[in-house]
Amino acid sequence: MSRFSKWLIICVAIAMSPIAAWATSIENVRVWPSPESTRIVFDLSASPEYNYFTIFDGGPPRIVIDFHQSSNQVDLASVTSESLLLERLRPSTPPRDGTVRVVLDLSRAVEPTIFTLGPNDRYGHRLVVDIEGASVQPERQSRVVRTAEHAEFRPVMIAIDAGHGGQDPGSVGPAGTFEKNITLSVARRLAEKINADPAMSAVLTRTGDYGLSLPQRARVTRQARADLFVSLHADAFTSPQPRGASVWILSRRRSDTELGRALENKERLSEELYELQPTLTANNDDPFLTRALLDMRRDDSMQDGSLAAQVILEHLGRVTTLHRRDPQGASFAVLSNIGTPSILVELGFISNPQKEQLLRTARHQERLAEALYQGLREHFVRHPIDGTILANQRIRTHVVARGESLSTLAQRYNTTVQAIVQHNNLRGTTIRVGQELQIPTS
Ligand SMILES: [Zn+2]
Repeated sequence: MSRFSKWLIICVAIAMSPIAAWATSIENVRVWPSPESTRIVFDLSASPEYNYFTIFDGGPPRIVIDFHQSSNQVDLASVTSESLLLERLRPSTPPRDGTVRVVLDLSRAVEPTIFTLGPNDRYGHRLVVDIEGASVQPERQSRVVRTAEHAEFRPVMIAIDAGHGGQDPGSVGPAGTFEKNITLSVARRLAEKINADPAMSAVLTRTGDYGLSLPQRARVTRQARADLFVSLHADAFTSPQPRGASVWILSRRRSDTELGRALENKERLSEELYELQPTLTANNDDPFLTRALLDMRRDDSMQDGSLAAQVILEHLGRVTTLHRRDPQGASFAVLSNIGTPSILVELGFISNPQKEQLLRTARHQERLAEALYQGLREHFVRHPIDGTILANQRIRTHVVARGESLSTLAQRYNTTVQAIVQHNNLRGTTIRVGQELQIPTS
């Protein structure tokens, strides 16, 4: 072999194995659009050396990131973006050897926030790009049509919070089910039931698979002027034994049960993913006053949450096993930061193999949603809020005549079949001639 060809082989060998030569490799790219921003996460083999610049010169706006001493394992063109802000990712000619240049084509010129994160229990080294701005198509979240008859009274407003989402899958079941998908599915079913009831209205804190920080969940809740915040979860536990559903309310003390402490820790881990999101700002002019007001509001919220939790548990107990018959107290961040009466519902533990299978079925999700809806409605009938339709119902007695059905009665009294069934504790929708019914009207 000539000296020249030996040299050539070495050169080719180096050119063909650039991966080994550079300190950091890009191993994966994740795009998380949400109503207020888009987060793009580069998963890396090591902490990156990088710099970036933006090109907002009137042409197509873009962010250019140079990863130095790096190699790329990801086919950037195949990374799909569902974000309205990020049009696509693409590689570009690097300024020098050993640099990977990535271009983010944007739909609008927005200055990004770019930072690195170290490994945690779920991910390794990461470079995070946050771009502020609406990134998902706004969905019509709540019913806006109000019938004229109800104009003077308002529906009770419920904020339904599907736990986790986006880069935070929540717990993962033995068969690979993500908690975030179960919670969203049950949340949607529940919202549909509530919005079909003229006396109630629902808003979802998230309507798709994206992560939300606590302040964002709180903002949706406050903007909707919700009367109650219901956070849905289906957490795993360290052992596969726990099976039942449970309802949690805010407690000032840390939980005194082992399960409560484990769940508190788990939720805290989830929130860690949002470590760089701004936190709720309190009024700092008078720290003492702020503190006292917060405490007062919290006491009311805790009381209301606990009443709602009891009624909901009664209804949940009819469709699923309960882990505990009473509401459990814990200091979940999601409950303490909202400022609205709040409860956290564990729909069941997806760490339990049978429960996981059950939680995946439409039939069980539907039954859980129905139980939650019935429980919520009953709570606001038992503990009415001034000015709401449910607080101003009049009850009329009606004796069923030949040819009448629940739907004709509902129409005549301007109410719903659901409301009559509920009020009379009917098991089905058949009624008989001569039967006495209490009809709630407003
Ligand atoms: Zn959870």
